[in-house]
Amino acid sequence: MLSHELGHGLSLRHPSGCGGSTTNFNATNVMWPCSSTRAFLSEGQIFRAHFNSSSSINNLYNARAGQSTVACTSATNTAECPALQRRLWADGTYPAN
Ligand SMILES: [Zn+2]
Repeated sequence: MLSHELGHGLSLRHPSGCGGSTTNFNATNVMWPCSSTRAFLSEGQIFRAHFNSSSSINNLYNARAGQSTVACTSATNTAECPALQRRLWADGTYPAN
């Protein structure tokens, strides 16, 4: 629960609504709403938490002072913003991609 709320402070959104799963996320993802089995973040989510200008570590604590930030949405998939579902390692039932 705490990790989920911290994720919101770090600019992360819910990957979907309550219940079920999507092609790339299910209730094991930390940002899944209405879950008691949260365990994983994707690397795409970790990237946004660190580099999004709207993340509290940047807009409140200025942790990347003098360095660039990005404005990646959940849907952005570019060279500057890796896909939200990007995984370097498998998590739960989802393989690395
Ligand atoms: Zn939430």
